[in-house]
Amino acid sequence: MRIAIVSDAHSNIEGLTAVLRHAEAGAPLDGVWCLGDLVGYGPDPGAVIAELRRRHVTAVAGNHDRAVAGLMDVDEFNPAAASAALWTREQLSVYEREFVAGLPLTHVASDFTLVHGSLRDPVWEYLLSPEQADAHFALQTTRYGLIGHSHLTFWVEERPHAAPAFHRADDGRTLELGERRLILNPGSCGQPRDGDPRAAYLLYDDAAAAVIWRRVEYDVAATQRKMRDARLHPWLIERLALGE
Ligand code: ZN
Repeated sequence: MRIAIVSDAHSNIEGLTAVLRHAEAGAPLDGVWCLGDLVGYGPDPGAVIAELRRRHVTAVAGNHDRAVAGLMDVDEFNPAAASAALWTREQLSVYEREFVAGLPLTHVASDFTLVHGSLRDPVWEYLLSPEQADAHFALQTTRYGLIGHSHLTFWVEERPHAAPAFHRADDGRTLELGERRLILNPGSCGQPRDGDPRAAYLLYDDAAAAVIWRRVEYDVAATQRKMRDARLHPWLIERLALGE
């Protein structure tokens, strides 16, 4: 079973399709898991939702999804994110909005728990410290956890008698899944923030009992053109080329 694990597509259809094509170039995919923030920021919310639904995605909700669906106030967002959320709301059909509103906060798939932020605070917490990882592990009933939200590629390892260890995962990094409990972040396929503008994803191969982090070039300029036409916030457009 080969599963593409994506997160934070943020209405970027070029980034999403680039990683999915890359993931299925060698062999067919058996599924796509998405860790939230399907929409918000980018120019193509409907196309991203359609692509993921066509592939029978297993997805959880992110903060942007909740805001766009009207389940959360945009007051908690910074101005650029808030205006993008309101713009996105206008673009979606009733059915698309219902789909986004219906995304669960957490989902268990075999040995993995999917959540956007953390199990302690599913849509808001940026899990970036050992203390936060401890709190998450305490609530994780499966061996492995999958998170997004920070748009960074890393994994966290639970250790006996020691604080959880964080490891950055660069392109091509393979991790064998063993007995120890882990939290994995695939990074973002729609708005990377680690200084590398290439779209990020994680490929899970259950026969190999391993995951691999990958980065893929996509047509950033095409996404930016559409964002300019839609008059989205200039910083949201610029940051795609910077990977920030
Ligand atoms: Zn996000």
